[in-house]
Amino acid sequence: MALIVHKYGGTSLADLDRINAVADRVKAAFDAGDEIAVVVSAMAGTTDQLVSWVRAAAPLHDAREYDTVAAAGEQITAGLLALALQHRGVTARSWLGWQIPIHTDGGHGRARIEGIETDELLRRIGRREVPVVAGFQGLGPLGRITTLGRGGTDTSAVALAAALGADRCDIFTDVEGVFTADPRVVAAARKLTKITYEEMLELASLGAKVLQIRAVEMAMKHQVPLQVASSFADTPGTFVVDEDDIVEQERVSGIAYSRDEAKITVMGVADRPGVAASIFGPLADGNVNVDMIVQNISADGTTDLTFTVTEADLDRSIAILEETRSAVAYDRLVADQGVVKVSVIGVGMRSHAGVAQTMFAALAEKGINIQVISTSEIKISVLVSEDYTELAVRSLHAAYGLDDHEP
Ligand code: ADP
Ligand code: ASP
Ligand code: MG
Repeated sequence: MALIVHKYGGTSLADLDRINAVADRVKAAFDAGDEIAVVVSAMAGTTDQLVSWVRAAAPLHDAREYDTVAAAGEQITAGLLALALQHRGVTARSWLGWQIPIHTDGGHGRARIEGIETDELLRRIGRREVPVVAGFQGLGPLGRITTLGRGGTDTSAVALAAALGADRCDIFTDVEGVFTADPRVVAAARKLTKITYEEMLELASLGAKVLQIRAVEMAMKHQVPLQVASSFADTPGTFVVDEDDIVEQERVSGIAYSRDEAKITVMGVADRPGVAASIFGPLADGNVNVDMIVQNISADGTTDLTFTVTEADLDRSIAILEETRSAVAYDRLVADQGVVKVSVIGVGMRSHAGVAQTMFAALAEKGINIQVISTSEIKISVLVSEDYTELAVRSLHAAYGLDDHEP
């Protein structure tokens, strides 16, 4: 007998038919003898609707009230799934974040889980009861409801699995696992049987929203065995594992893209020591996360500095740079939101040469201009015009031999 945490995403719980199908799946696993705890997202589209109401009510909203509203969708699915399980003869009850409680810090809108009280849950699981836990939400230090950031139910599930000492956490979603690229963009993408925690972390950070980044971080830290699988099929999914568990390492495991990028160019800054610090210091103080950076070569003692931030941070970044203008002395600022970051990821890069060259040649062949490049040990990212998103992702997928040619 194993203790398994099941997580179901929004599409898997989109309506009552789907909720009933999930209840059948949970009951089948339960009847097979396993102990099951379930973590649910809101129905697909619900959280977007709730967030849009918050924004319409108050553009500069109180983050605590945002959380009160945004957390509401998971209460509905938790209750409905508990009912559907009871209807099937399974003893089940719903649990909201504050009832367990799932303690978080006070970072409303993107709170971090600090601890989960599991005594009562474990006692009931031991009595063959199925807890149905509302994902995405927790209880802050001042007794208010918090949410964990969009996609946060993945993190709720992994955190619960770690706290319960579960044997595995199964993330059920609307695709059959982790693919070599987003299967909605690349028809030839292949499902991976296994992927390392490290690669999964890069994929998630670089735009593949199949798992929330913090969920992967937490699974890696607490060594929670993780499977991503479809709630619509009965095929095995992708297992996220340690590097040692993968025998044959490909050069590249996957391609990811992120449209949530904005490029800022600071034109005509003096080419002397301290200039980069005077630009990036105030941005860091303003909590702006700068990602890719490139500095052009200097011809006349001045230079241009280009970097990227998330779209949400663009306006704030511009405001901060305008405030520091007297100290930095630049000619002008140019912002561009029409860019996408495309990345290739693979731990095999450590031992294979020429990975970057394959990328540059494939993009050149399609006439796609690279605006900024950044690399780490297991990934290479380029910034290109958003118009080429699909073309770039598909060309790179083919160039690294990832296309599935089987019928
Ligand atoms: P859920 O509601 O179940 O949490 P999400 O929409 O958050 O589902 O995540 C699943 C989606 O992630 C898929 O529908 C797919 O389009 C997208 N995705 C992006 N990159 C990948 C990838 N490399 N492998 C699988 N899915 C991916
Ligand atoms: N319902 C939340 C969201 O849409 C959490 C989740 O689905 O993981 O972001
Ligand atoms: Mg998700």
